[in-house]
Amino acid sequence: MPDIEEKYGFPHCTGHRSSLAGGLFNGCKKEKAIKFHFSTALVRVNSFGPRPSITLKPRDGDEYTLEADIVLASDGIKSVTRTQMLAELGTESQEEDTGQAAYRIMLKRSEMEHDPELRELIDSDTVVRWVGERRHIIAYPVSSKQIYNLSTAHPDIHFASATNATYTTRGSKSAMLQMFEDFCPLVHRMLNLVPDGEVCEWKLRVHKPLPTWVRGSVALLGDACHPTLPHLSQGAAMAIEDGAVLAEVVSRIPADKVHDPETITKTLKVYELLRKPHCTALVDLATHSGRILHLGEGKAREERDREFRLNGKNGSVPDKWASPDVQNMIYSHDWVQEAINRYDELYASL
Ligand SMILES: Cc1cc2nc3c(=O)[nH]c(=O)nc-3n(C[C@H](O)[C@H](O)[C@H](O)COP(=O)(O)OP(=O)(O)OC[C@H]3O[C@@H](n4cnc5c(N)ncnc54)[C@H](O)[C@@H]3O)c2cc1C
Repeated sequence: MPDIEEKYGFPHCTGHRSSLAGGLFNGCKKEKAIKFHFSTALVRVNSFGPRPSITLKPRDGDEYTLEADIVLASDGIKSVTRTQMLAELGTESQEEDTGQAAYRIMLKRSEMEHDPELRELIDSDTVVRWVGERRHIIAYPVSSKQIYNLSTAHPDIHFASATNATYTTRGSKSAMLQMFEDFCPLVHRMLNLVPDGEVCEWKLRVHKPLPTWVRGSVALLGDACHPTLPHLSQGAAMAIEDGAVLAEVVSRIPADKVHDPETITKTLKVYELLRKPHCTALVDLATHSGRILHLGEGKAREERDREFRLNGKNGSVPDKWASPDVQNMIYSHDWVQEAINRYDELYASL
């Protein structure tokens, strides 16, 4: 997507998630106020306010309880905090099956470079999506083109038949090959490179939109409050934006109010007012995009393919991740600036 930098000021990049996490971690290490407690699980939230209290358990130690002015819970799709928050509101956490699962595959450069077509793929600056009926594969180079990353979306057969709450499993290579047997030979050659016993399959789940992301002085962010299908590549992006907006609004609490629960709750509500409509819209769009990508034979697919052939000339493409109108909605928006512009107005409205 060469026009992204021209339109939005930054290039479109692909990256290994460990590079992103490492970059964020290194950034945090430079901040004296941030202290990490690794291998420590949140067991429960004892109280959401006026001063929230949480119980934690180090892997090799005893449980202990902490009080804080504010708790920001980014504990992912299986969020303990969300479940408890909803229970306090008299409702249940409602994770939803999407009927989709994903194989996540990383091929090394050394495995691909002997094959001219595969070498061309890993050397490219291109994201490729291979689309078939009820399934697709998205792939791109990461880690300075040393790794080729493939992620699939396909009907969830294996998790659907399991009774436990596992989200990832060691998959069978033959089942994976069978799932994509009607794809092109290039895809088969890549899938064949995956070592037996190293097929990793993820269940793709979402959650019904929450009534709120905030209770007392506790706020949810990221997958804890808006888990999404990956078809827009926006799950982690939205989580990072949530963090940036939270940092901005919390920094606006006046010095004499930093321990004041009412001010903290209202400030967290401003964050929710800013972010919830946008994140809900993107989660819906990702679901919609998956539906279009996975169409089976029929009129709707013919129309989709006609639109694909127009290649964005009418301002839109069926793959919403690559669609100029959706990209504009996502990339043209500066959420921190929005928080700066609207904090006072939104705070006063509460
Ligand atoms: C196949 C696939 C492809 C994806 N591709 C993209 C993409 O291209 N771009 C993109 O932006 N997003 C993508 N995503 C989505 C992205 O991975 C998530 O949206 C993102 O990781 C959410 O970040 P998070 O910090 O909210 O949650 P998580 O990354 O899930 O982190 C939650 C953390 O909380 C910890 N935790 C959970 N419970 C507890 C507890 N009780 N105590 C202590 N710690 C706890 C977990 O161990 C974990 O470390 C993809 C997802 C999938 C499945």
